[in-house]
Formats: sequence, structure tokens, C-alpha cells
Amino acid sequence: MRTVAPTPIEWATAEQSEYYDWVRRFALSLPDDTRTRDRDSVFSWESWASCGEFGIMGLPVPEEYGGGGADVVTTMLALEALGYGCRDAGLVFSINAHMWTSVIPVWTYGSEDQKRKWLSDLCSGRLIGCHAITEPEAGSDAFAMKATAKPVQDGFVLNGRKTFITNAPVADLIIVFARTSDGVGPFGVSAFLIPAGTDGMTVGGGMEKMGLRTSPMAEVMIDDCFVPVTSILGKPGQGGEIFHTSMEWERACIMSSQVGMMRRTLETCTAYARQRRQFGKPIAKYESIADKLANMKIAVDASRALVMRAGWLMDQGRDAMVEAAVAKTFVSEANVRTHADAVQILGGYGYMTEFEIERALRDALGGTIYSGTSEIQRRIIARGLGV
Ligand SMILES: Cc1cc2nc3c(=O)[nH]c(=O)nc-3n(C[C@H](O)[C@H](O)[C@H](O)COP(=O)(O)OP(=O)(O)OC[C@H]3O[C@@H](n4cnc5c(N)ncnc54)[C@H](O)[C@@H]3O)c2cc1C
Repeated sequence: MRTVAPTPIEWATAEQSEYYDWVRRFALSLPDDTRTRDRDSVFSWESWASCGEFGIMGLPVPEEYGGGGADVVTTMLALEALGYGCRDAGLVFSINAHMWTSVIPVWTYGSEDQKRKWLSDLCSGRLIGCHAITEPEAGSDAFAMKATAKPVQDGFVLNGRKTFITNAPVADLIIVFARTSDGVGPFGVSAFLIPAGTDGMTVGGGMEKMGLRTSPMAEVMIDDCFVPVTSILGKPGQGGEIFHTSMEWERACIMSSQVGMMRRTLETCTAYARQRRQFGKPIAKYESIADKLANMKIAVDASRALVMRAGWLMDQGRDAMVEAAVAKTFVSEANVRTHADAVQILGGYGYMTEFEIERALRDALGGTIYSGTSEIQRRIIARGLGV
């Protein structure tokens, strides 16, 4: 069931609204084969390539590096439209992971040579990127990482094991975080650009997930992996800063796609509740159902306002770490509630895979874990309050 409503973003400029609609129409035209690929955990190379050609992946990057030269708010609108039109939330997640954990760090911290080598192909989607920070014993406390990068003549030798790495099975470039020197927390952590297939770096078999199943994930094993000195991204010891920059972008922008997803579900549920009759009238006429729809509308509007506030601050060159954490926490939790309510509104049909709402609920649940859990976001927000 596909619904297309007019773009209701009151404050967007005419140009932004037109752009939003253009992206939405493109996203709606992508093949709708997600149900079977979700069942079998299959990534869509075809849709990835279409999104790359369309120009989504390099949107905020300057045109001279193959990007779209868009501001952050316009980028967010495009990602919302993608989240609205594309039913493959795993693909949308992989695109977001690629953008915030490889495109943005290479653009903002890469040397001119690194940018010339990687950026335009990352922007066009011809190459796929990811970042590897999490380890089996270092999740929320990411900088408790044990991976090391020992300086040797002309380069570094890396050792370590990374887990839960989105896109790793399909990636051409893996940004690996490892300790180049002793230090506490982020101090002494550096980031390395390592092409897939480099001797000493092995990507494990795919990890099977509850949701976002069309987004490939794997462990990355690094054993005596030599990389030349030119592989380092930014400066030695700058890994913590690179990671925080990635996370500011990711937490704010990835949630835009969830706003689009919630909006599509609100429209689906409203249409369903209007036409589904029980006890002689449409179920929308029952207050408990109408209240759920009203709560969904509140979730969509408040979520968009929060992500856009973070984007607006980033466009002004201002720090948005706390605002991105506020948006990430609110939107990811609202998305879970919205989709739990959606299953309830559709009743037995909502529980069936055919109606694609149960999948959206499974996909939504990942949002309170990746890019830092809700609990960790609340730590960041509380720190911002000085407590
Ligand atoms: C879909 C998905 C995609 C991912 N993609 C990537 C990727 O591309 N690259 C990558 O490096 N990693 C990735 N991750 C890993 C992700 O960043 C971690 O799962 C996340 O940071 C949590 O770490 P953990 O799973 O080890 O949980 P833990 O850190 O062990 O946390 C377990 C529980 O304890 C809570 N907790 C921990 N510390 C505190 C605290 N101080 N205060 C209160 N509560 C706390 C947590 O909130 C959580 O509820 C991905 C994860 C998922 C689910």
C-alpha cells in the first residue's frame, strides 16, 4: 500500500520543498522487494547504485570533491524524503552509516591526497565505506578499546578485533580506530583508512540481526596488518575527535530518515483506521485509536523540529553535540512507540509480515542502540546540564 501526500513542511523554502518532493518521488520508485530480502538478509546492490547515481551519498560534500554542496538542513530534508519513500530501512541505514562514518570523516579530516583518492567514489556510491570502533569488550565505553596500531618504519602494524560493523561485508574502505599510544579514554586513539582486502584484515561472516536485516554487518579481525603512514586519517591521536564529529552528524542526520519512516506509517495507519470498520463504524472513530494517531502526529512534528534544530546549528558552524543527542534519543524512542502503536492499530494484519509494519518495528528498535544507546545519550545530555 503506497501513499503519496503533499509535502507538509511549512517552513521549508520553495526550493527545499521541491527538492524534498524530487527525492521522495525517486525513493518511491525504488524496487519494492524488501520483504523477501529482509527474510533472507540480502543487501540490494541495485538500489544502492541507484541512490549513489541519484546523488544522495555526497550531498553535504563540496562539488569539487564530487558532492552535492548542500547545507545540513537540506541534506536532512533529503534523508527524510528517502526514509519516507524507501521501504528498505536497512538500505537507508547503510546509506546513512556510509555517509556519516566514512564520507564525512574523509571530507573533514582527510589530506588532499586522501580526498582525491577516495571522496568522489564514496560520494557516488561506487565505493562503500564503514567505520570500525566497537569491540567485543568495548561498546558504550568505546575508548576502552584494545586495538593497537604500533608505529614501525614507514607505517603502523594494527592488531585487534572489531564487532557490529555495519557495511563491513560490502565495504571497500574500512576506517579502523586503534591506539597509537598509551592514553586514557580517547587520548592516543587514531583512525586509519584501510582498503578492504588489505593483508591482515579479515571481514567475518555476516551477523544476523533482529531488524535492519538488509543492512550487512560483520566482525572485522585485524592481525599484524601493516598500513603505510599515509593511511592515517587526520593526525595521530585525533581519532577521538574524528569519532565525535562522525557521531554528531550521524545522530542528527540518521534520525531524519526515521522522521520520514514515521510519517509514512502515520499516513498508512490513518488511511487504514478510516476504512477499517468494526462494531459498525470506522475504528478511527474510537478515541483510543484516534489518540494513537494523534500521538504519532506529535512524534513526527516534534522529531522533525529537533533534528532540524541540530542541523541548523551545524549549518551555523556551532556545536550541536547535546542537541544531536536530544534529537537521537527523542526520535529513536518515538519511532519505536509509533511502530508499536501502528501494529496495534492494524491488529492481526499489523502482526503479519505482508503488511510490513512488524518489520518497521523491528527496524526501529535498532535506533535506540546504534550511534550510542539511549542511556548514553542521556549521559551526554546530563553532562550538558552540568550534572
Ligand atoms: C544496528 C547496529 C549497527 C551498528 N553499527 C556499528 C558500526 O558500524 N560500527 C561500530 O563500531 N559499531 C556499531 N554498532 C555498535 C554500537 O555502537 C554498540 O552496540 C553500542 O554502542 C552499545 O554497545 P554494546 O552493544 O557493547 O552495549 P553495552 O555498552 O554493553 O551496553 C549494554 C547496556 O548497558 C547500558 N550502559 C552501558 N554503559 C552505561 C552507562 N554508563 N550508563 C547507563 N547505561 C549504560 C547500555 O545503554 C545498554 O543498555 C552497531 C550496533 C547496532 C545495534
